[in-house]
Amino acid sequence: MSNKKKVAILGCTGSIGTSALDVMRKYKDELELYSATAHSSTDELKKIAAEFSPRFIAVSNKSRKADCDFGNVKTGFGAEALKEACSGADIVVMAIVGMAALPPFVYCLENDIPVALANKESMVCGARLIRDLMDERGSVVLPVDSETFAISECLRGRNKADVSSVLLTASGGPFRTWKKEDIDEATPDMALRHPNWSMGAKITVDCATMLNKGLEVMETRWLFDIEPACIRIVVHPESIIHSMVEYNDNAVIAHMAVSDMRLPIANALLYPNVPKVAVDKLDLFSIGSLHFEEPSRDRFPCLDLAYEAIKKEGALPIVLNSSNEIAVGRFLAGEFPLRGIAELIESAMCRFGGESVSSFEDIYALDREVRKFVVSVKIRR
Ligand code: NAD
Ligand code: MG
Repeated sequence: MSNKKKVAILGCTGSIGTSALDVMRKYKDELELYSATAHSSTDELKKIAAEFSPRFIAVSNKSRKADCDFGNVKTGFGAEALKEACSGADIVVMAIVGMAALPPFVYCLENDIPVALANKESMVCGARLIRDLMDERGSVVLPVDSETFAISECLRGRNKADVSSVLLTASGGPFRTWKKEDIDEATPDMALRHPNWSMGAKITVDCATMLNKGLEVMETRWLFDIEPACIRIVVHPESIIHSMVEYNDNAVIAHMAVSDMRLPIANALLYPNVPKVAVDKLDLFSIGSLHFEEPSRDRFPCLDLAYEAIKKEGALPIVLNSSNEIAVGRFLAGEFPLRGIAELIESAMCRFGGESVSSFEDIYALDREVRKFVVSVKIRR
């Protein structure tokens, strides 16, 4: 029997999934691909199956069944098959986009399977229920986002009681310097041009509205069990410092590296070991200077919506996230300009903000209701 670490990659055809496969190639003596999943990209899955020979493949979109011939690799279909992909793995890379990652994430926690968490929507929606489950089980959840990885590095070996604040850095996205009226009317083409990172379409649009940072405040809150009042957003256009932690003595510890997701991925996959090389060296002399700004809540209204959800907790973070997932899809389909996203989220928050959630079943039911509502709300073009 091989003593390599068995890695499951959920969402292996996406941006994070592809970077995770790259890390697997580099560390093939330590890691083996145990299972791989994608929603619909069956051609890419075929190539991955041929190169890595995983033991199991899951295609979550059942309608793709006819296109799925992966040789002699066992194959499962539908959302339930995502859990089967996790079962028996030594670590699961949660690289699915959206709340679809919540059920397999909960499955991993309940079955004590370590998770390399890229997906933030599941932490935002699972919130306190996820935190309680993590505390109860003593779960291993390793951060695969530049900011959350940076925070975990800045906290390492320190006492959390000494932390005075977490400074979550944000690139500011493609519209950082734009006027409000131009941001409001931005098109998908404009929103998809991120200055520093190449990522999946949904998170790239979230960076353009800056809702991504709101989601990360919530993710940070639950992942590290830090009060939201202690988490501040700092716009830092160079994306060299990936976040900072300030301590009670007013010293600030920052984490710097080139912008490359293979850094948190390699650290998570090799945990508790530290990778010898994960990314290129940082050349501070060619960067020259670093800049910091306050985020503009006036030009990026999604930030205020996120702060309201953070403050009130309960149903609002779920409503915010589910309505955003649908709104981003409608924006990308060309139905309305960028301002429509905040408008849709706001209308969903007004309508569903009073709902109560006390179980994962409540979360899934609320998510379904919000989606049904948001697909039909009209936005002026
Ligand atoms: P992506 O769109 O490139 O890839 C998404 C993957 O999820 C694909 O493999 C797709 O097949 C699968 N998928 C899509 N819908 C699904 C569904 N309903 N059920 C199951 N699988 C589904 O996205 P990405 O940029 O790789 O981001 C993935 C997650 O990681 C997101 O939550 C994002 O916020 C987070 N993240 C991404 C980056 C990045 O650099 N891309 C950085 C930090 C965090
Ligand atoms: Mg991030």
